[in-house]
Amino acid sequence: MPAHKTTREVGTHCPYCALQCAMTLQITERPNGAVTVDGAGPASPEITVQGAEFPTNRGRLCRKGSTAAELLSSRHDRLRSPLIAETDDEGERGFREASWEEALDHIADRLRSIQAAHGRDAVGVFGSGSLTNEKTYALGKFARVALGTAQIDYNGRFCMSSAAKASTEVFGLDRGLPFPLTDLDAACTVLLLGSNVADTMPPFVQHLEGARSKGGLIVVDPRRSTTAELTAEGAGLHVAPAPGGDLVLLLALANVLFEEGYTDQRYLAQRVSGTEEFRRSTAAWWPERAQAATGVGADQIRFIARRLGSAAVRARHGGDPVFILTGRGVEQHRDGTDTARAAISLALILGLPGGRGGYGTLTGQGNGQGGRELGQKSDQLPGLRSITSPTDRAHIAEVWGVAPDSIPGPGTPATQLLHTMGTRTEKGPEGIRALLVHGSNVAVSAPDSSRVLQNLRALDLLVVADFFLSETAAEADVVLPVLQWAEEEGTMTSLEGRLLRRRRAVDPPPGSRSELWIFAELARRLGTPTGFPTDPAEVFEEIRRATAGASADYSAMSWELLDTGHAGYWPHPTTGEPSADTGRPGGPELTSTGEPIIGTPRMFTSRFAHPDGRAALRGIRPRGQAAPGAAELTFTTGRLMEHYQSGNQTRRVPALDAAHPQVTVQVHPATARQFGLTEHGLAVVENAQGALTAKVVLDAGIRADTIFSPFHFGGRGAANLLTRGLTDPDSKMPEFKNTPVRIRPATAL
Ligand code: SF4
Repeated sequence: MPAHKTTREVGTHCPYCALQCAMTLQITERPNGAVTVDGAGPASPEITVQGAEFPTNRGRLCRKGSTAAELLSSRHDRLRSPLIAETDDEGERGFREASWEEALDHIADRLRSIQAAHGRDAVGVFGSGSLTNEKTYALGKFARVALGTAQIDYNGRFCMSSAAKASTEVFGLDRGLPFPLTDLDAACTVLLLGSNVADTMPPFVQHLEGARSKGGLIVVDPRRSTTAELTAEGAGLHVAPAPGGDLVLLLALANVLFEEGYTDQRYLAQRVSGTEEFRRSTAAWWPERAQAATGVGADQIRFIARRLGSAAVRARHGGDPVFILTGRGVEQHRDGTDTARAAISLALILGLPGGRGGYGTLTGQGNGQGGRELGQKSDQLPGLRSITSPTDRAHIAEVWGVAPDSIPGPGTPATQLLHTMGTRTEKGPEGIRALLVHGSNVAVSAPDSSRVLQNLRALDLLVVADFFLSETAAEADVVLPVLQWAEEEGTMTSLEGRLLRRRRAVDPPPGSRSELWIFAELARRLGTPTGFPTDPAEVFEEIRRATAGASADYSAMSWELLDTGHAGYWPHPTTGEPSADTGRPGGPELTSTGEPIIGTPRMFTSRFAHPDGRAALRGIRPRGQAAPGAAELTFTTGRLMEHYQSGNQTRRVPALDAAHPQVTVQVHPATARQFGLTEHGLAVVENAQGALTAKVVLDAGIRADTIFSPFHFGGRGAANLLTRGLTDPDSKMPEFKNTPVRIRPATAL
């Protein structure tokens, strides 16, 4: 008699971007004992995905989210066993399957001998903004306690570092959106710089409808992106500054606001320092001068400034709020921190943060927020604590059960780490000789990727933990198969600082293991037997203690509260501003979907996070950028709707792969004529770093001096073959958006 299938539902959140849309997985299990046709294990369950009611997505999912279950049920290329690289007699490199015991013994032996020969810092660790909070925290602790290395950083350095640095300097604290996303719904004006949310996180667009309906959506982008199209038919305005012109545009807007009296003098006097210094630095950027530097007309600059200014004046008298938002388009530059700082300064002189709207940066990676505050950044300890602060070091040392002096100091930021590892000086090997990579595909996503690939191959040991054989894993000496989103428990922190529970919905494939177990096993082999719990709930309890009293304070949150429907926004009420539910008549504030709020959904309502409670403005002076040479264009990179990050997951989803199977280069028709390119023909884009071969897509909406490619593809289609290792001096953010290149027709891939 046939056994019955069983169906159950699990509520969780999307595996991809920082919007962290809520979804319900409906799982139909096959009868016990059924196995896959290849006999490799229990049959994959049938899983369907539906969007669930949640304030950020309100039941909607994008194409990536709605096909995410295929990552769970399609197991043909999942890694199922540790792999160790071997070279045969003919010199051919390949992998052989190994037991966990053998793989971990091998890694521990190699780490020990490399550190004995070259010092603790010869081993580097590279993390990710896609790891759960628990894995992020454990990775930072593993690097600093079990390995004793300072050399840990992560791929969020490529995403959020400049805006995070600017927020920390100006506000005193970095939370991507210091207000709930749903506050945007009431806006009359939103200035959105360098973010194509309509493609990258489509459910976000519903939060722009308020501003659109009032004609107040202003989009700054060198392309007429899907988001820029939302400004059509009276919904707002799109402006396309020249490459590198964003900072000057912002300073020019501030110039008009100061000159025409739109600034909020009372707010500035009470809550902000450095206003005069900032004002002086904007004085040189009157609209006509800025027009020459940005390509945006002086009239348009005045129009935008007056729109922002008059809306802010109305907001001061109870009118609708005004928001200024930035994304990677304006942040991934050599002046990325200054540009984000200018956007924050604009919001401050209008008196917006803390009640009448404000500034926010749109975090991209799924756990881009938690990932940058829980201890895998080269200069931070958990809770956004400083690695150089004696007080912070002492607190973390106590939680970790180690001496404060034993915690290494600041390490090398990601780009420099990847660009120098494996290199040798005349005196012999130096720098990082071994690298452990978790949740990141640096061979595709890092700038100047051919140099990164070369350095990966020069390492004495490369260990990659992943669930698919990514381009980086393919270069590894040892590959460790790990669990993915719905195969384990954990928490994520969304772009609005809200803590979310990810839930285990299905069993992982046999042979894969959690990173938490891997850290514990390696730590034991390296002689650090205690302090690495393998239960994510236990790790979260440690996060609560590690972050208690810190800027990013998670101590009031618990899995129990989250599981009983509470919405937790850090920081904890006792260390930040009062909780929204503290003493509130009539009970706690609720989210738009009815969850009681704990923590601090709206920050800076009465004070900023600097000790004096004031936001800190200062002068901003553009450093100037070299203009592209004759016959050169500006190459800029970004995301597509169908793919996420390096594409290691989404390129394996058939519907997403079919929608955009190969790298493309977007070119203005006039530029195509100039360089002999044809629609759907092939082009070679090249510079001193390398060459990219891509399919040409003509688009009259992109500036004629700019071309665009998505960065989701590997091999000869990797956009980062062209990007350089130049970084912003303040944050070490690479310059992904402004690379001089040449373009010519190609005949074949
Ligand atoms: Fe939502 Fe982002 Fe997932 Fe799309 S990728 S469903 S926008 S969380």
